[in-house]
Amino acid sequence: MVVDKLSGLIRDIPDFPEKGVVFKDITPVLADGSAFHELITKLTEPFKDRGITKVAGIEARGFTLATPVAERLGAGFIPLRKPGKLPYETVREEYELEYGIDSLEVHTDAVIEGEKVLLVDDVIATGGTASAAIRLLRHLGADVVGFSVFIELVFLNGQRQLDGVPLHALLRYD
Ligand code: AMP
Repeated sequence: MVVDKLSGLIRDIPDFPEKGVVFKDITPVLADGSAFHELITKLTEPFKDRGITKVAGIEARGFTLATPVAERLGAGFIPLRKPGKLPYETVREEYELEYGIDSLEVHTDAVIEGEKVLLVDDVIATGGTASAAIRLLRHLGADVVGFSVFIELVFLNGQRQLDGVPLHALLRYD
């Protein structure tokens, strides 16, 4: 299966969750066993043998991709969650969305100082979410070796927010 097959399964939902946003719905990819397998393979490939010991996923769609990537790499999984969801001691970063403002939290003991961490999400739009995720992980002492993402909305220039973390995007929409 090629990346074209994956792109053919993505559903564009106009004006969701609010007017003017074209939402990239990846649920048809997740629902197709061979497409889902291929997606996880492609997200993982460049990061094999890179000494990655943790994969961080951004709530909620990021979890569906980050956990299988972590398992393939033989790494652990770190949830980056919306405020008030994590039970233990947390640190928080605020960020701007394409459609609003939000925050992310992580457990203070999620990373060992100097640990190589891969960040994974479904979509990079403005890059605000990923930027907050990178700040959180670095605050805990992580070496953020890359950001692996299914879809990049190139016209929103999110890559500029990544503060030097290399972006690996499978599909790029201009
Ligand atoms: P941003 O912080 O603007 O890069 O937004 C990225 C986050 O918002 C990701 O976690 C995505 O899941 C979600 N997101 C933003 N824009 C879209 C979109 N057009 N389609 C699907 N998800 C989106």
